[in-house]
Amino acid sequence: MYILYLDESGNHAEASHFVLAGLAVFEREIHWFSQDLDSLQLEYLPEEIEPVHFHAARLRVRDGDKVEAPWEKLPREKRLELKDRVYDIIRGRRGVLFGCAVEKRYSALRREDPYERAFEDLISRFDLFMSRINRYAISENREEQRGLVVLAESSYEKTIAILARRLRETGTRWGQLRNVTEVPLFAPASATRLLQYADFCANAIYGRYHSKLTGDFDKIAGKFDQDSNILHGLAHLTTDPYCSCLACFSRRSRPPNLPPI
Ligand SMILES: [Zn+2]
Repeated sequence: MYILYLDESGNHAEASHFVLAGLAVFEREIHWFSQDLDSLQLEYLPEEIEPVHFHAARLRVRDGDKVEAPWEKLPREKRLELKDRVYDIIRGRRGVLFGCAVEKRYSALRREDPYERAFEDLISRFDLFMSRINRYAISENREEQRGLVVLAESSYEKTIAILARRLRETGTRWGQLRNVTEVPLFAPASATRLLQYADFCANAIYGRYHSKLTGDFDKIAGKFDQDSNILHGLAHLTTDPYCSCLACFSRRSRPPNLPPI
């Protein structure tokens, strides 16, 4: 089974973009990802016994602003070093990234909710990824895999549960879902290490689109789902028809016989 862990960024009013993003991992990899964060905690915060919630925004806090416990024990340079090391893990381990950045002006013009739009987009992308995985599996006489989505708990839980049921029954705007057929699970990010990585993914994408900060994004950009040099794992829904970001550039240059997302 592949599990796609997703978290959101850009929910506050002044954010220009809303981002839903995260990583899909094969079930056996979960242990290694979790162990990596446990090791970082032991190295940087050895006196903390309980698992500490890793959260990208809390590690980024500027000097002079309030730093939440237990991160106030680390000077800023150590917090930033730790943040970089989390992105190193995402870059180095076997996981595939998915992200959707929705410009709020884009969704407002269409009277769409950015979370719902991003969720539909990502579930469709994940389903296509699973179709590809299963095509390889069938061709090599291996067992087919299913896809499951786990979302960080949020105020959207009810809406998304209803939307997910509709997408399962009637398909997305791009067609029927074939491999992702379970109800998405909602879990607290504080208790799920993989959702904490999803937060770092969403935060890097948000930084790229809202603040034009590309450092963290560039570090993980090569991990977005791609096949035959076509980027499938990242979408940018924008009102700018000439946007030259990685996602828009790839979308404009893809062959016309491929599905529209
Ligand atoms: Zn773009």
